[in-house]
Amino acid sequence: MVVPYKHEPFTDFTVDKNRQEFEAALKTVEAELGKNYDLIINGERIVTEDKMVSFNPSNTQQIIGNVSKANIELAEKAMQVADETFNIWKKWKPEVRADILFKAAAIIRRRKHEFSAYLVYEAGKPWNEADADTAEGIDFLEYYARQMLELSKGFAVESRPFEHNKLSYIPLGVGVVIPPWNFAFAIMAGMTAAAVVTGNTVLLKPAETTPVIAYKFMEVLEEAGLPKGVVNYIPGYGSEIGDYLVDHTRTRFISFTGSKAVGVRIYERAAKVHPGQKWLKRVVAEMGGKDAIIVDKDTDLELAAQSIVKSAFGFSGQKCSACSRAIIHQDVYDQVLERTVQLTKEINVGSPVDFNNFMGPVTDQKAFDKITSYFEIGKEEGKLMTGGTADSSKGFFIQPTIFADVNENARIMHEEVFGPFVAFCKAKDFDHALEIANNTEYGLTGAVLTRNRENLEKAREDFHVGNLYFNRGCTGAIVGYHPFGGFNMSGTDSKAGGPDYLLLFTQAKLVSEQL
Ligand code: GLU
Repeated sequence: MVVPYKHEPFTDFTVDKNRQEFEAALKTVEAELGKNYDLIINGERIVTEDKMVSFNPSNTQQIIGNVSKANIELAEKAMQVADETFNIWKKWKPEVRADILFKAAAIIRRRKHEFSAYLVYEAGKPWNEADADTAEGIDFLEYYARQMLELSKGFAVESRPFEHNKLSYIPLGVGVVIPPWNFAFAIMAGMTAAAVVTGNTVLLKPAETTPVIAYKFMEVLEEAGLPKGVVNYIPGYGSEIGDYLVDHTRTRFISFTGSKAVGVRIYERAAKVHPGQKWLKRVVAEMGGKDAIIVDKDTDLELAAQSIVKSAFGFSGQKCSACSRAIIHQDVYDQVLERTVQLTKEINVGSPVDFNNFMGPVTDQKAFDKITSYFEIGKEEGKLMTGGTADSSKGFFIQPTIFADVNENARIMHEEVFGPFVAFCKAKDFDHALEIANNTEYGLTGAVLTRNRENLEKAREDFHVGNLYFNRGCTGAIVGYHPFGGFNMSGTDSKAGGPDYLLLFTQAKLVSEQL
């Protein structure tokens, strides 16, 4: 009997023992840094001369791992393996596939701080963010395993007296899984697990800056009993193997989380039917956001400021759910702005190995350059209230930055910066605030803070985002509680961690028997 799903609790770091255990995990992992990691194709370790170097974004001298790198020949080899393995794996019982996920979750739970410590070093996550990432990965495994057990029952369809009808959900084939670096463990594990538990085989191309944590996950899957060839680990550069994998005639689906630019490119390429291709490819894409928090006049202003700070600057704003627009009713604008700036000035930025730093680095030079390039744009479009400085001498550190008095049509109200960067915009009234919030090509998350029930109901109807939160911040969706995914240019309207997510990796087959 499977016990009901409950999300994995976060570690309470105010407890001394928990802090000591986490410190110990950081030490253990630090001693392991700099190793070599191979490709894994059909369970075989393959070493390549050419390596990708994963380094610590808060200390670029520190190498996390040297990772072998797939080229087109190796990607092709992995595709052949996944294609052949699919014929076997798809016949494994759903319950057994689910058991492998349960087992993997149990292994990771036992080694939770070790995984989180890797995230501190490789992804630059502060302790609480790393801990939440690991917990979410466990949640995805636990949740999708249970969802598979449900899905394996099929959906009820009617049968007439002379027939028996059955609708079941069968897997698709080989999937290319391209996860992001920002939830380097959770989303990578969730995307992979969803594809596999439904009976597909996978080519896992981990994010370029975080391949080591994905390797650790591969080891767990093997230990949990996943047969070889079901998930093949092929780190590589998008520019070298990305198009090849997407274009391949044997690719049945692509599951992607990342930027809008890459998502749109994948979507377009996947639409092309190549000679010999027997299906229309499916794309599941979760892309960007330009998420807004609306603060109404009648609200708890302290809660509003705290929510903006946490949503805008948690993990340096590198979440597609992050608050990058604060839309404030004119009557309370000055107060909310002032308090938010005050709280932001208290934020410690530094190495996430140190528990006292609320914010660590951004992920790499490219991110650093992009985010800091918005400082000048921001100065033209608004008033710099705090931040606007950065230092990449050791790691990629950027001070949390607030621009005030920004016009709703400004670039910084529309373009995703993906960093610790938020624009404040004044609204005449609540309707105007909603209008501004919807004035974006994205539609991922949003939050409304108000005591006014009528306005909450207005937002429920008209705030066009996939994840809408009332009287809280706009980040931190929990698997199984807050299915996550958005509208418009935020993706393909899929809901990770939701009850219909697994359907995306299946196709429905109806069998009707005449009695
Ligand atoms: N699910 C995360 C949240 O709710 C964001 C995921 C992402 O950034 O891709 O904060």
